[in-house]
Amino acid sequence: MASVSIENVRKSYGALEVVHGLNVEMEDGYFIVLVGPSGCGKSTLLRMIAGLETITSGTIRVGDRVVNDLAPKERDIAMVFQNYALYPHMTVYQNMGFSLKIARRPKSEISQKVGGASSILDLDRYLERKPVALSGGQRQRVAMGRAIVRDPKVFLFDEPLSNLDAKLRVQMRSEIRDLHRRLGTTTVYVTHDQTEAMTMADKIVVLNAGRIEQVGSPLDLYRNPVNLFVAGFIGSPH
Ligand code: ADP
Ligand code: MG
Repeated sequence: MASVSIENVRKSYGALEVVHGLNVEMEDGYFIVLVGPSGCGKSTLLRMIAGLETITSGTIRVGDRVVNDLAPKERDIAMVFQNYALYPHMTVYQNMGFSLKIARRPKSEISQKVGGASSILDLDRYLERKPVALSGGQRQRVAMGRAIVRDPKVFLFDEPLSNLDAKLRVQMRSEIRDLHRRLGTTTVYVTHDQTEAMTMADKIVVLNAGRIEQVGSPLDLYRNPVNLFVAGFIGSPH
């Protein structure tokens, strides 16, 4: 586990700055939710933490390590995407073990890690199936399993539930929270859904047009929104 510190982080695409000098501390072991309307810079910030996008200026720290110039695989971070991007021709077992296989980890370790993740995620019975034979929720769990087997210090989720139907979304919210409770891994979770933010977060970061409007617990934001944007955003039905 590790904290993630965002210090004066900016991002421009060409002449256009889309992230304007963000400062936020994401504490070790917390479940942090980045919430805000479409286009406000949530994915850009997450991708900068992951190392999938360069930062234009500022510093990102994971624990006490500055990661600005580290490749994604050197950051001890695992990202779960919205479209789970499972390998269709591989079984669940192979999907979950793939990153370890290409890292040339021994078979015994792969089997132990995949076994551990699949029992946490209740996937033991599905290890020999291909993704096409899984439900949406099961595919989502395999995507999480691929992240878990790497023992990352930080999990990043980018709108992982937005392709699921409403009922499954509610179920997966609590599964992801359970997972966090069990593993204790620092998690940064992006959503545009305020209900998701309010029900899942230890700490919410409200973004708007590349700036932070407010940082606080769900209760802080509910009781003391700092401005009309936050009040309207948190208060509005999805
Ligand atoms: P969100 O995830 O909150 O919906 P994004 O981080 O995807 O927002 O995008 C933030 C802003 O940056 C948007 O205005 C978007 O159009 C712009 N943007 C994102 N990626 C690129 C890119 N590769 N090139 C140019 N502009 C981009
Ligand atoms: Mg996005």
